[in-house]
Amino acid sequence: MMNKLKNKVVIITGGNSGIGFGIAEAFKNEGAAGVIVGRNQKTLDSSVAQLGDNFMAMNADVTNVADLERVFAATAEKFGKIDVLVANAGAGIMGTVASISEAEYDTTMDLNLKAVYFTVNKALPHMNDGGSIILVGSNAAHRAYASFTLYGAAKAAVIFLAKGFSSDLLDRKIRTNVITPGTTDTPAFEKFVPAEQIEAVKKHFADTMPIGRIGQPSDIGKAAVFLASDDSSFMLGAELLVDGGLTYLAK
Ligand code: NAD
Repeated sequence: MMNKLKNKVVIITGGNSGIGFGIAEAFKNEGAAGVIVGRNQKTLDSSVAQLGDNFMAMNADVTNVADLERVFAATAEKFGKIDVLVANAGAGIMGTVASISEAEYDTTMDLNLKAVYFTVNKALPHMNDGGSIILVGSNAAHRAYASFTLYGAAKAAVIFLAKGFSSDLLDRKIRTNVITPGTTDTPAFEKFVPAEQIEAVKKHFADTMPIGRIGQPSDIGKAAVFLASDDSSFMLGAELLVDGGLTYLAK
């Protein structure tokens, strides 16, 4: 165990699965304490059991501002003011401009953009000055993948929010940066691919990655520790590509 985040209070939305859990584990290994937020009680329970006594799980919907207010007030009451906020909860939707309905548009933007904005908005009264906010973008914000138009647009806006929030919060010395993962090995695959095809699809994605493998949640966790800690104190409004070269390297 190392101590880059010793005495830091952290909160991670979607910390019960995939990338969010990888970030929570990395924070725990650096001595942090705090809260994971998600909607699936079973994975909240199993994740917090692995994270240990310094972590608490809260069941909440990040698209509901009353839930967000409840979560941040409870976190601050139990642990003290928040030092590090990770707005990670999100999900892709597949469909083209010809097929996505108004209702699907609203649910996609509510989760991937509006919820990120209000996660930060509602956390601010409970955050310490000098804190760190980490957003999660996507490679789909930079390259137009078939049927990821709307999700990519939401994530492109999230990448902008890191700049805007940093500017808005200069007086409080709260830095916001965004991690852009490339294809990462998480349960999100299960939403798009039948179980018997998952390994073949992961291999296909690995072959498209310049580095030759897809990412692991721990890869993103290590980058999040850097952005959460004082090691990145000169960075604000920045985008950190943790993408195996997918965004800028031709293959
Ligand atoms: P995942 O499905 O494993 O985890 C998503 C998490 O978000 C879950 O814990 C889920 O409970 C939570 N969540 C979803 N909707 C919620 C809501 N309304 N309220 C509260 N929690 C909610 O997915 P993942 O792959 O780990 O994705 C995490 C983030 O990384 C997302 O923002 C995703 O867009 C982004 N991302 C993933 C990849 C990838 O290849 N896996 C690549 C780029 C970006």
